[in-house]
Amino acid sequence: MQDTSIISSLVELTKQRDQLSIRAKLLSTLMSATDAAWIVFCRLLDDRTVEVLDRVPSPSPGKSSKHYPVDLFARVDVFVKCSHLRRPIWVTDLEPYQAIIFTINDGATNDDFIVLFNPDLDGRDERTAASILDLYENFVALVIENTQDALTGLLNRGAFDRDLELAAMSVSHGKRRCDAEDGCGYLAMLDIDHFKRINDRYGHLYGDEVLLLFATLFRDSFRRADKLYRYGGEEFAVIIDHAAERDVVDLLQRFRQSVSEFTFPQVGNVTVSIGAAPITGNSLPSNIVDRADNALYRAKENGRDQVQLFHTDADGHDRQLPRRDVELF
Ligand code: GH3
Ligand code: MG
Ligand code: MG
Repeated sequence: MQDTSIISSLVELTKQRDQLSIRAKLLSTLMSATDAAWIVFCRLLDDRTVEVLDRVPSPSPGKSSKHYPVDLFARVDVFVKCSHLRRPIWVTDLEPYQAIIFTINDGATNDDFIVLFNPDLDGRDERTAASILDLYENFVALVIENTQDALTGLLNRGAFDRDLELAAMSVSHGKRRCDAEDGCGYLAMLDIDHFKRINDRYGHLYGDEVLLLFATLFRDSFRRADKLYRYGGEEFAVIIDHAAERDVVDLLQRFRQSVSEFTFPQVGNVTVSIGAAPITGNSLPSNIVDRADNALYRAKENGRDQVQLFHTDADGHDRQLPRRDVELF
């Protein structure tokens, strides 16, 4: 491939803002810049299994007609070694390909790898791929830094706006359903109760400590697929991946309870109020935030330290609920 097309490919990569799209562009850039027949992205889990997460065949006719040898991914020790050495490893006893395994640091908590397969790879492929991977790692670090809240390490407000818009769009476009049988995505807004008193009584440093510990409890309470945000100040948000309403309420109630039972150093007990709304089709992100906020407001009005849900009718119209009738516990 010509250098100019590699540069165009890298320009496309740096236009992306979410990690999955960046990774997809990484694979296509590597494919066009090296002589690989197959490129595989995989992850080492608990030093025990290697899971293939993505794969790209060469677009050149016939080049990838033979499948890459999947048994390489059963040789977990090779990946463990690569991860410890933090440099590329060549595997030359595979048929019909050779492989170069690169370890990459893309912010994931597990070890991620890129594997290049071809009948005869050479040192130039290794050097080119290594340079592209360096650039990828630097760019991903920048993207992560840009989407993180500095105090808590949770996702920030900018990431929230983007993610909620994407979640609402995927329902509107029918990619994700939202109904009683199938479940729904949910937005929950969380606001620490009487936080101003904590600052006033113990000072801002202790207030910050509460925010940090709250964020840790928050992270420990939700599933990997759920996305957690610091919305601003002492307000947080979570976009809950597809779930039935009952499970969402359970999840939020369990978190609310874990906060109320936790002893914050010096400060003692702290509570949180939570309002949640389903991410339905034909709703603007601002409507969804308003609904979750409305439920949160009701939680505050009803005495704080509780979860309230906002409901819509079957035809999608907002439905105001009498007070307390969704307090399930
Ligand atoms: P409510 O139960 O109604 O939510 O009462 P509240 O006191 O939590 O709410 P209010 O909005 O009156 O006060 C929020 C306070 O949070 C005011 C602000 O000074 C404080 N705050 C916002 N961001 C930070 C921060 O980053 N660190 C600290 N320590 N305090 C913060
Ligand atoms: Mg507030
Ligand atoms: Mg508050």
